[in-house]
Amino acid sequence: MKKYKKVLKSIVRKVLKTIMRAALVAGIIGMALTGAGEWLGVFHDRSIAAMSEQFTMQFEEQMLKLPIVGKNPVEEQSVEEFVGVPYVKDPLPISNKRPGKKRKIKYIVVHNTANEMSTARNERDYLSNTANTASTSWNIVVDNDEIIEAVPVNEVAFHAGDWEGNQYGIGIELCESDNMTTTEKNAARLIAYLMKAYDIPIENVKTHKDFSGKECPRKTLMHWDTFKERIEKEYKRL
Ligand SMILES: [Zn+2]
Repeated sequence: MKKYKKVLKSIVRKVLKTIMRAALVAGIIGMALTGAGEWLGVFHDRSIAAMSEQFTMQFEEQMLKLPIVGKNPVEEQSVEEFVGVPYVKDPLPISNKRPGKKRKIKYIVVHNTANEMSTARNERDYLSNTANTASTSWNIVVDNDEIIEAVPVNEVAFHAGDWEGNQYGIGIELCESDNMTTTEKNAARLIAYLMKAYDIPIENVKTHKDFSGKECPRKTLMHWDTFKERIEKEYKRL
């Protein structure tokens, strides 16, 4: 009987060891694949990493029936009530600026337009200008009296100069035209609203600079901490 127990114990130990080793190997392979995927993603967003992300999301959604965070689009009426300015949906067609790729939402990425003349309408029109062939885009643009959405928040746009930022971040452009104090007030409210709607913590409200090192949002960066405090104050009103 004792001998039987001993044999059983050694079998259990062997099985456990095999499982641990398999898990370790799978982990290493997984990390290597993710690393390679993200490395490729530096060159183009339609990379292995992006495809695997898409696959995982579809798997979670269809097979496991899990809700995808940020799946619902922004509700114009409720955001307008909170911010106090119109929220206009003017979606880009599917193009190099809008690949139509659904994603999870982890961050909000804040930008300034670096153009003191352009309004939200001007910025949106520029995306549709046939002379503008670059893939650069954003999700939402804010000025002192209007908000325009060009790419739905649950889709990838190209603004962060970085795979992680584009894949998971809602890109928000703050116009530098007219009264930027009002624009920042509108943006702080909008960001607070999005944080609540998509469960984004304040530490994930980032600057373009955080992702790519570019000096953006060039004006808002000068008082970034105050801007963040303002967002938190607005968040408490929700
Ligand atoms: Zn930027």
